Amino acid sequence: MSSPIEINERQYPGIPSSTAIVICLDGSQKEYFEEASKLNLTPNIDSFKKSGEDLLVNSAIPSFTNPNNISIVTGRPSSVHGICGNFFYTPSTGEEVMMNDPQFLRAPTIFQKYYEQGAKIAIVTAKDKLRKLLSHGLKFNESKAICFSSEKSDQANLSENGIENVNKWLGMEVPNVYSQGLSEFVMAAGVKILNEFNPNIMYLSTTDFIQHKYAPGDEVANAFYAMFDRYIGQLNVNNNSIIVTADHGMQAKSRSDGSPNAIFLQDILDETLGKNISKVILPITDPYVVHHGALGSFATVYLSDKSKINDAIEEINKIEDIEVVLTNKEGCAQYDLPTDRMGDIICMSSQNSTIGSAEKAHDLSKLKEPLRSHGGLHEREVPFISNKKINLNDANIKLNNYDAFYHAISGAM
Ligand SMILES: [Zn+2]
Repeated sequence: MSSPIEINERQYPGIPSSTAIVICLDGSQKEYFEEASKLNLTPNIDSFKKSGEDLLVNSAIPSFTNPNNISIVTGRPSSVHGICGNFFYTPSTGEEVMMNDPQFLRAPTIFQKYYEQGAKIAIVTAKDKLRKLLSHGLKFNESKAICFSSEKSDQANLSENGIENVNKWLGMEVPNVYSQGLSEFVMAAGVKILNEFNPNIMYLSTTDFIQHKYAPGDEVANAFYAMFDRYIGQLNVNNNSIIVTADHGMQAKSRSDGSPNAIFLQDILDETLGKNISKVILPITDPYVVHHGALGSFATVYLSDKSKINDAIEEINKIEDIEVVLTNKEGCAQYDLPTDRMGDIICMSSQNSTIGSAEKAHDLSKLKEPLRSHGGLHEREVPFISNKKINLNDANIKLNNYDAFYHAISGAM
């Protein structure tokens, strides 16, 4: 056993002798597990809940994919690691900068620090947009690290990913980016890597394609969780510790007629404050908008005229379905966000509504099912299921999903 490792001002146990596995099951609102369990589709998860832990924890705000994946792998919120959305806005140039490159990462990952101490690391992510951030600081030429995405599994090579010919090795073709197959590929690869590579630390991160389309209890959703549970059974061997959590939950965000329930905030602010005064930024926006139309429950607003901040807050407060409206300073303090990558105002909408920018800026034609999305407080609480008991010093303190590696590693010593 090696000595403790300090990462981002937190003490972690040394290198675990078994495998510490954290799975971020994207978009897994707790009801997905509950519904699948009622039909006995998830016997492995159910046994974890009985003999290990079945907790609800907070995800990082905004309850989006990248900020939470990076919180999980750094063990800290966005105020520390800097990744607070898919992109940030630069008011001086009007530029929207994608934050999927390690240059925007302000903290080392747990993987990097453990790797430097000699641990073997394995990471599989569904979408490639996360891969570079997750693998930052790892070396792939020493046969001690593997990191690739199912989306670009056919492009994996030894120098960048520590593995090659992935599709042949796994016996699975590259899945469609909008399919359940993208997540199943992650799980199948995780099992094979565990058996053949025997890492000290493994991270598996799926995609929420199913959760955006299907509600808890839906036949398709149930089949997804049954599939997931079969792989969980294969990972639950030796003395491995497994923690299953999520990056965010997921709520229905449509009107009774099936149309997306969206507040087009840019249109409202243009009308009340005047044109070109405000710029509404939706950090959920990314190249994969088919399943949510860039509509989530979190927005930040930049104002070209700072004297209008209070007027803007007043106008936004009048909107019924917006629940949280805070200044940059208040919002960043309350939700651990980086002040320099947020606008002048931070707002979040209610359980069943989303915030859009200008109506004409959203292409909703590809949304086939009623909108389900995330980003705000109602998708903040996520499951935290462990195959082992967790030593909680103070039962009153609510854990965060980004405490997962701390407890997974502790459980695998
Ligand atoms: Zn997600």
